[in-house]
Amino acid sequence: MFKLPNLPYDYNALEPRVDEETMKVHHDKHHKGYTDKLNSAIEKHPELFEKSIEEILGNLEAIPKDIRLAVQNNGGGYYHHNLFWEMMSPDGGGEPTGEILDVIIQEFGNFNKFKEEFANAALTQFGSGWAWLVKDNTGAISIIKTSNQDSPITNGLKPLLGIDVWEHAYYLKHQNRRPEFIEAFWNVVNWDKVSELYIS
Ligand code: MN
Repeated sequence: MFKLPNLPYDYNALEPRVDEETMKVHHDKHHKGYTDKLNSAIEKHPELFEKSIEEILGNLEAIPKDIRLAVQNNGGGYYHHNLFWEMMSPDGGGEPTGEILDVIIQEFGNFNKFKEEFANAALTQFGSGWAWLVKDNTGAISIIKTSNQDSPITNGLKPLLGIDVWEHAYYLKHQNRRPEFIEAFWNVVNWDKVSELYIS
């Protein structure tokens, strides 16, 4: 069984950047929903419980057809939210340091240019989805956007930083104003986690 992780901080810990009510609904309803539906799908092929979620999403072709779409959607939702909570922190924000900053500068010119391109990807993702900073198997980083809960790891890309731009991630506080949510997000980005993901 895949287990819904607890948030690594209190529901209100990201206030005022991300509000308590959104965190409660997002974790306790949406993330729990993905987790439960992933488990129900995999119960039909319980041998898959031996695999990690990364292994499952990394090779969706190997998943039996009768549950593949359910696993793609709910497995993606499960995995992405596991990452998302850790990619934010009450002590987050500011700028990264070390290797991740070096590679961001190398790829995007400077940190503000990176922020601009990432925010633009988040803003222009049409409908539900995510914007990501990812690393490929050569170590190169890039910004991508994905629809629904399609996972970068299905395309061999490792997520380093992701922003959830499904309306459920911001609608209670920001209604249709996605740019406000993206702006608030920069203040809670857990660069230590991004850095750890980059070097591991
Ligand atoms: Mn979400």
